Amino acid sequence: MGGTRGYEELSVTINMANHSTATIEDLDQIINGLRVWHLALPVVSRRDHGIGSVADTMEVVILRLSTNDGLQGHGEASPWAVFTGTPEASYAAINRYFRPHLLGSRLGDLKQTLAVIQRAVVHCTEAKSAVESALFDLAGKALNKPVWALLGEKCRDSSPFSVSIANPDFAQDIALMHRLSDDGIGIVKLKTGFRDDDFDVMRMQTIRSDFPEFKLRIDYNQGLNSETALDSVRKALPFRPDFIEQPVVSHAYDTMAMIRSEIDVPLLADESIYGPEDMRRAIREGICDGTSIKVMKSGGMRRGIETASLAGSANLPAYGGDMFETGLAHLAGLHMLAVAPNISLGCEFYHSHYFLETDTLLETLKPVNGELFIPDEPGLGAELNEAVLEKYCLSQA
Ligand SMILES: [Mg+2]
Repeated sequence: MGGTRGYEELSVTINMANHSTATIEDLDQIINGLRVWHLALPVVSRRDHGIGSVADTMEVVILRLSTNDGLQGHGEASPWAVFTGTPEASYAAINRYFRPHLLGSRLGDLKQTLAVIQRAVVHCTEAKSAVESALFDLAGKALNKPVWALLGEKCRDSSPFSVSIANPDFAQDIALMHRLSDDGIGIVKLKTGFRDDDFDVMRMQTIRSDFPEFKLRIDYNQGLNSETALDSVRKALPFRPDFIEQPVVSHAYDTMAMIRSEIDVPLLADESIYGPEDMRRAIREGICDGTSIKVMKSGGMRRGIETASLAGSANLPAYGGDMFETGLAHLAGLHMLAVAPNISLGCEFYHSHYFLETDTLLETLKPVNGELFIPDEPGLGAELNEAVLEKYCLSQA
């Protein structure tokens, strides 16, 4: 009996440790260190999209915040010049404009700090995302809780994993799809609208005939002209994709609504919806049947969750999208979708494993049986590869 009693006492002790009643507001640590790196990381192939291409390297900005008791928190800004902004702007926003608001601030006041950051520079949603990630990473570590536990109620343990097919050399993408199939991946998204309809239809035919195991999604990335977009989109309908995404330029809400009314496949909005403000208008104007939620577009996990919640209120599902991100940013995306029930269409956090030669994380995120699992470690669950930060650094401060 004595042994059993001792075991019960141990269990109680562990439970209390894991269910600390301390909250973010209780944290008295002071931010006393800030480092920022602008990295150019080599990629394994070229990728073309309706709005632009990425080849040779992808550029990200990594932020490290430190506290007076020795904690470190990390965040990533993953801009794309033709989509959200430039790495130079993210770097300057953090290093010049956010630095004075962060250094000397109390960790327990992080929500007030982030409200100041939000107004300190217009746009720069990726830099704001990096700061939010780093502060929540610190708070999670200080409270011994994963970031998702600081954001809301966990609604899933994993998310289906989707990989985009975007190489202008389709033979290379066929080799990639064989690898994806071997890895148990169940969803591919074909990037269309960067060459011509015939090239797109040929690739849809090949995927449907040679890879019947994949769910197929189509993303034009704004690549079509509003005048002829409907004709092009109609050519994709016989392949019965899960959805067709953003055929026309972001601000063409009228055209999005018109195309949606003319087709019987769900139409998703990506570039048309950055955050809650766009989501409200998109719902009002009926431009889509769903959306992509990206930490980088939204300006942080919390705004992403707010955007997802608005979409959910209109019964619109979403997927967890990414920009050209390393594993550190993917982690922020995973913590976001852990607490957003209607981000139910999977996630696209594939760049670190299938596009980068070397990730910023020591251990790259890898899907298991076609799913990516939500981390339960304190903070983001990130362990950075310091050698990568130095080797691929363009500038640092
Ligand atoms: Mg997209």
